[in-house]
Amino acid sequence: MVDNDCLFCKIVAKEVPATIVHETERTLAFRDINPQAPTHVLVIPKEHYRDAAALAAADDGLADEVIMAAHRIAEAEEVAAEGYRLVFNTGPAAGQTVFHVHGHLIGGRGLNWPPG
Ligand code: AMP
Ligand code: ZN
Repeated sequence: MVDNDCLFCKIVAKEVPATIVHETERTLAFRDINPQAPTHVLVIPKEHYRDAAALAAADDGLADEVIMAAHRIAEAEEVAAEGYRLVFNTGPAAGQTVFHVHGHLIGGRGLNWPPG
């Protein structure tokens, strides 16, 4: 499942460069081009799903793999112990601009609540 117009599918295909920090058979993680914190990594399934709900509906453990990959990266970046945020913006009102599901792994600084 690939969307030819999708930026993150192009990163998976290595047609668009990215700073990849973690890769498994079915997931990929790379640094956000506009980081909002010392650690800001995007974690995605390699297959194209438009948002977290579509990913979860695939019902084959892929959402679990994305979340576990995020936690392993948080450990590798040494932000897991102090805490980090994993955000799936879903829909335009939430600020989703790329419609290939991605978890924002954000950490390395204090994070306010509620978010903006
Ligand atoms: P969202 O607004 O939740 O859809 O998040 C999209 C994220 O993708 C933003 O944080 C952007 O900074 C990031 N982004 C856009 N283009 C790239 C790129 N080529 N490489 C890495 N991150 C990107
Ligand atoms: Zn895609």
